Amino acid sequence: MAKQRKGYFGRFGGQFVSELIMPALEELEAAYAYYSQDKTFRIELKQLMQQYAGRPTLLYKAENLSKEWKARVYLKREDLLHTGSHKINNCLGQALLAKKMGKKRVIAETGAGQHGVATATAAALMKLPCKVYMGNEDLRRQALNGFRMQLLGAEVEGVGGEMGTLRDAVNEAMRDWSRTVGETHYIIGSVIGPHPFPTMVRDFQSVIGQEARQQIIKKEKSLPEAVFACVGGGSNAMGLFHAFIKDKQVRLIGAEAGGRSLNPGDHSATLSSGRPGILQGTLTYLLQDKEGIVNPVHSISAGLDYPGVGPEHAYLLEQKRAEYVNISDADALAAFQELSRSEGIIPALESSHAVAAAKRWVQSTKVKNPLIIINISGRGDKDVAEVQRLLRNS
Ligand SMILES: *Cc1c(COP(=O)(O)O)cnc(C)c1O
Repeated sequence: MAKQRKGYFGRFGGQFVSELIMPALEELEAAYAYYSQDKTFRIELKQLMQQYAGRPTLLYKAENLSKEWKARVYLKREDLLHTGSHKINNCLGQALLAKKMGKKRVIAETGAGQHGVATATAAALMKLPCKVYMGNEDLRRQALNGFRMQLLGAEVEGVGGEMGTLRDAVNEAMRDWSRTVGETHYIIGSVIGPHPFPTMVRDFQSVIGQEARQQIIKKEKSLPEAVFACVGGGSNAMGLFHAFIKDKQVRLIGAEAGGRSLNPGDHSATLSSGRPGILQGTLTYLLQDKEGIVNPVHSISAGLDYPGVGPEHAYLLEQKRAEYVNISDADALAAFQELSRSEGIIPALESSHAVAAAKRWVQSTKVKNPLIIINISGRGDKDVAEVQRLLRNS
């Protein structure tokens, strides 16, 4: 691969931010470069991952699904982590880094509230005051997560007027950071935003793929034919893919939210329907209209409805190293029920997109009895009420 410009993945990535933020990014970049190589930091983080979050997570052979699908299906069980999803991997890493940097406070944006809860959790553990920005509309829909963050000691501020959503929350968090950069670290929730966030968040999540690769080699004495993960901002997918990028025979397949239809506003399939543009400090694929105005997005799962995607995914797509497929709301809902019934595992609606993509691939491949890994990025408890509502109305 050609030598990369710093902070870029091919032509994607970079730092498209106001001057007010640049000093914060430079300080963060230097601190991360130092601590990511620092032995004490690595040991402390490993201990947090093991003792607090519950790593390593299981690589579980789904025997019932394997029989039904005529494949060898393994599930990477990130749903078993403390707080119920992979998000804690990144939050513990960034909160520890913030402490090492001498920051007195952390802030975060959140959409449905999952990243806010994971950040508030890590902040409580490390005794860092925490403020979470959340759109007012999201706060109304996810009132319980707002309260959960408060229970964990975080301050929650609703933003963006009546209709405020994730984008308003990111903008408000950026504004806060530019005012308070001396004392504050901003914990971004996915492999998005300006450099060094996409690289740093990917590194904190890459433990998923490192474990999975070792586990599958130990159990099956071979690498998988394909690995699957859902893609919102893209952090659980990058976390799984990263360790397999050099294994050219392993197909990396990301499942995006195909929503209700592929008409603008009905989905969030950024890589298959978008084109390059700049959003929140990074050059990446975006869902946008002819004038470059960002489209509204939809998904059955709150964690996938983001109009951008991590720049490294845009790069992997253009390099043809990874493939991205659309999974409709209906197919994700069916996969949610299928995994629940066949294995006794209720996955997050986000993760259900990866299950559906895997099923479709297994049905179409010529490989006999293929070996695959599906990342179960989170558990589905949070989605049960919504699924009940959807099934009643169907
Ligand atoms: C937030 C979330 C996602 C989507 O985020 P990525 O950065 O794309 O991983 C997926 N699954 C679960 C369970 C989540 O909470």
